[in-house]
Amino acid sequence: MNLRTHDIAIASYFRFSVTSHLVPEFLANIAHRWQEAENVEYMFGIVGVPIMEVAMAAQAAGIKYVGMRNEQAACYAASAIGYLTGRPAVCLVVSGPGLIHALGGMANANVNCWPVLVIGGSSDQNQETMGAFQEFPQVEACRLYSKFSARPSSLEAIPSVIEKALRSSIYGRPASCYIDISGDMVNARVDRDTVRFVSCCPPPPVSLAEPTAITEAVSVLREAKRPLLIIGKGAAYGRAEREIRELVELCGLPFLPTPMGKGVLPDDHANCVAAARSRALLQADVIVLLGARLNWILHFGLPPRFHPQVKVIQVDLCAEEMGNNVRPVAALLGDIRAVVSQLLECFRKEVWKYPSDTDWWKTLREKMAANAEISKGLALRPTLPMNYYMVFHHVAQLLPRNCVIVSEGANTMDIGRTLLHNYLPRHRLDAGTFGTMGVGLGFAIAAAMLERDRSNGQRVVCVEGDSAFGFSGMEVETMCRYKLPVIIIVVNNNGIYSGVDADTWREMGKMGDLTTVAPPVTLLPDARYDEVMAAFGGQGFLVQTPEELRSALELSLEDCERPSLLNVLIDPASDRKQQDFPWLTRSNL
Ligand code: ADP
Ligand code: MG
Repeated sequence: MNLRTHDIAIASYFRFSVTSHLVPEFLANIAHRWQEAENVEYMFGIVGVPIMEVAMAAQAAGIKYVGMRNEQAACYAASAIGYLTGRPAVCLVVSGPGLIHALGGMANANVNCWPVLVIGGSSDQNQETMGAFQEFPQVEACRLYSKFSARPSSLEAIPSVIEKALRSSIYGRPASCYIDISGDMVNARVDRDTVRFVSCCPPPPVSLAEPTAITEAVSVLREAKRPLLIIGKGAAYGRAEREIRELVELCGLPFLPTPMGKGVLPDDHANCVAAARSRALLQADVIVLLGARLNWILHFGLPPRFHPQVKVIQVDLCAEEMGNNVRPVAALLGDIRAVVSQLLECFRKEVWKYPSDTDWWKTLREKMAANAEISKGLALRPTLPMNYYMVFHHVAQLLPRNCVIVSEGANTMDIGRTLLHNYLPRHRLDAGTFGTMGVGLGFAIAAAMLERDRSNGQRVVCVEGDSAFGFSGMEVETMCRYKLPVIIIVVNNNGIYSGVDADTWREMGKMGDLTTVAPPVTLLPDARYDEVMAAFGGQGFLVQTPEELRSALELSLEDCERPSLLNVLIDPASDRKQQDFPWLTRSNL
């Protein structure tokens, strides 16, 4: 390390400043006009040459630096802060491989439309093309994974480039942005008087939908026989919960949350039809799409999952999103909170309420009751090993209503989504639009940091498949290091989708080399993930029965000082209940 810590501490008193100080100094002050908080608060990363000094200077500037174990998880964590707070956090990485590891997080953030700012160190400019240490065309590499990717042309330009990156990450459709800082820039000096300091950007400007489009939407909705609101994570990000609740209740509309739209309105709200999802999607004649895309998660809005003549009223702040897969009858381009307020204004003036005794409500309620009955039957089976439904039944009973639920895995996430309820907005984080496995621990660390710093006393519960846990499992050390009381529940079925039990595994071993005979989905049976947590000082529980599950979860909830991991061994053959449509049903394009 060339730079003395001393330099960083005293840099602000001198006319000459080191670049490592310029970056955090600007980051720390960029958002001072914002109401909710003073600063860009968090930097997640892994240090090394050439960005060590940047992390230290960030701390000196009052930014919390969270050291992670893999850049991918660091980037997942930073992007989760962006989604949960609406303000970007920074992911700081070293050159070459460090940056490349972060690309997964950038892609995930971009696909989810979440803001994040990645700052990567890179090799010295005067060694470019020479085969420098960890040399890689980083700005170019990030272009596909971000909406802004640049290296400041000079030291003087650093603040204005950071301002542009930050602004780009939250204006328009949120996304990831990248700033490259070459190694030689980190320790160079600059005359502060020559630096182009720019003032920070205000919060994103808010736009309203065109009044004619609002009128059209209102008249289509008034005529609807089988209306449905779909609430997506754009509504959560846009903090539109109050307005959407008023719309739902004023007009008596059934609503369906997407996976991360869960909690914008509580899952137990009387108008929530999540338990009749397939039927609601299939038969609705008018759908109001509130910050959700008609992508694979919503089966492209097409038959056989949707009615062929469904009329879509689309609310989104991204003009290019309008008409993807289904042309909307009304395209309400604007900020979701503002647009829903526009709709409310019309419905308040000329009150309209969808009757609660229609056939549509009847069919939805019937389906919900039938589905609840099937799940209950599976949950209360007295057999061991447990199945998914039993596990989630007990977990759901014990979780506090205000906890943040992080979830990933195949069956674990799919079944968990239906049985673990959310009651508050932005309290669910999962594999998301990109279907990324390995996000859970990074997300949980970010959410737990926020909870700790906001002193809300809300717990973060991370419900993981055993395969999903493996991708970023070493982040349990990060949780233990920062004393984050995350509760990780590993629903362990010995494999990806499904595994085999220990006896079968042993038999397979006798049949030949496991690399040729073991099904690719299998993982080590009964692996002791709980001991991984215990190794770092957290609580580890091996759980095989509902009683053990309940007591381990209760003990974990009592402990606010350290993380816990419940390794819940379930039947490796446990599966999802029969679905009306197979996963990823081919749509008629
Ligand atoms: P889901 O996975 O819940 O269906 P998506 O990520 O597919 O949600 O869609 C979210 C949509 O919300 C994106 O198209 C994004 O452009 C949009 N969006 C994000 N924030 C806002 C906002 N404040 N106002 C309107 N639309 C928004
Ligand atoms: Mg599994």
